[in-house]
Amino acid sequence: MTSPSSAADYRVIASRLAFPSRAYIDGSWHEATSGRVFENINPATGAVLGTVAHCDAAEVDKAVGAARRSFEDGAWSRAAPEERKAVLLRLADLVREHAEELAVMESLDSGKTIKDCLNEIGHEVPTFFQWYAELADKSFGKVAPTGEKTVAMIVKEPVGVVGLVLPWNFPLLMAAWKLAPALAAGCSAVLKPAEQTPLTALRLAELATEAGLPAGVLNVVPGFGETAGQAIGRHNDIDVVSFTGSTEVGAYFLKYASESNLKPVGLEMGGKSPFIVLEDADIDDALISSAINAAFWNGGQNCSANMRQIIDLKVKDTFLHRVLEKTRALVVGDPLDPGTDLGSMVSAEHQSRVLSYIEAGKSEGARLLAGGGASAGLPGCFVDPTVFDGVTPAMRVAREEIFGPVLGVIGANGVEEALKIARDTDYGLHATIFTRDIDKAFHLAKRLPCGTVAVNGFTEGNVTTPFGGYKRSGSLARDNGTEAVEQYLQTKTIWVSLR
Ligand code: NDP
Repeated sequence: MTSPSSAADYRVIASRLAFPSRAYIDGSWHEATSGRVFENINPATGAVLGTVAHCDAAEVDKAVGAARRSFEDGAWSRAAPEERKAVLLRLADLVREHAEELAVMESLDSGKTIKDCLNEIGHEVPTFFQWYAELADKSFGKVAPTGEKTVAMIVKEPVGVVGLVLPWNFPLLMAAWKLAPALAAGCSAVLKPAEQTPLTALRLAELATEAGLPAGVLNVVPGFGETAGQAIGRHNDIDVVSFTGSTEVGAYFLKYASESNLKPVGLEMGGKSPFIVLEDADIDDALISSAINAAFWNGGQNCSANMRQIIDLKVKDTFLHRVLEKTRALVVGDPLDPGTDLGSMVSAEHQSRVLSYIEAGKSEGARLLAGGGASAGLPGCFVDPTVFDGVTPAMRVAREEIFGPVLGVIGANGVEEALKIARDTDYGLHATIFTRDIDKAFHLAKRLPCGTVAVNGFTEGNVTTPFGGYKRSGSLARDNGTEAVEQYLQTKTIWVSLR
């Protein structure tokens, strides 16, 4: 088959896939020691894709042992940076070569649309491996100013074994966000994908071996948070943990660290991000597309989703009219169809959670204008894109992370009121501002306590720009940009007294 372009083409690819089912430890496949497996379900159809090894503390320990041995033997950690670069560049190429296979696997595993999976896996994931590969041989230490009788060098060394615990909303992309800088730094990794979406991370580990990554440097342990995730958090031989997921579980990782070896923990967690439209903004196609994307991209299962849309009262009616037009045109359905805009929620459990928030919005008095429930006539865990007007800052839908396709409009009377509403949240991941007034844009950008502010277009930035949260959205550590590598390096001073 040449370039696939229809759901039928992607179903052919799907029918030929071999799904990984075991843990990848020390360069080979392993069943769980307990012999246990869990079912891996396609949330768009309810079909069982297969079973996956149900790993727990025993496999985490085995994986950490392999990672430590590989780190100490130095084949990766002490390799010349250009050797690490060459392997990571080969991995980027292999991901590109296998992009369709990986994208279909991701879509089946998560309910995400093939359109999004192809974009993430065909473009973004290889870009991350390529960018950090290029950085590997371009980072230098420093020499401190001293008197004639001393040389003082400040060098950066890989921190050791890193534990990476991932969410299900961007499975392979999040693996790349964390692995690319960690591997470029020279670390060895133990990675736990979310239980809902283990497949592509396991396949990536195999591709990494094909690219030349030495055995033991990347270990992937599928399993559940309570067991495998906790075992990573508490392991005394893991030097750093990087986690993306809910704020609640992020807090557990701080506890695990404090009750074990005090490992540093990088946290990227939830959000309740504002999308602010001031009265001078042009309510044009670009703005409306941004509003729709900000709320509904990836079915709203996005930590930086701008669900709280704070719209100046002078333009609110026009905004709502155009948002509703576009919302009604969105296609919800078969994730393998390239024409689909919104796929399935990741699981039946998550679908129920999203639906319960929609019910909360209705009962708290928000005015339902579109959607409002599960998608009729579809077999899996689908939710219709939902628009509420008349949301107030105190409502649950305005305060808690829904992680589903819900757009809530809050009216604001002028820039100061918009800012006050926007700031009224425990989270601080992201914000979008639309205005033609550059002074107002900077005024708001500086006063919004969050990690990313997008002006006149919804975006999370790209590989070059650090991503992470203020307040309950994150720790000081950042994914992406040169900052991400810092999480996986430690600083050593070498002070030489000359005779
Ligand atoms: P979680 O925070 O529960 O899961 C994220 C990762 O942590 C998964 O790998 C999970 O494992 C693991 N984990 C879960 N519990 C523990 C634990 N006790 N100890 C160690 N590791 C653990 O997110 P969910 O997937 O359950 O989603 C719940 C909510 O979290 C969402 O509705 C959303 O609000 C938010 N979220 C935010 C994300 C973000 O990008 N910031 C991403 C995903 C979710 P496993 O799933 O295998 O049990």
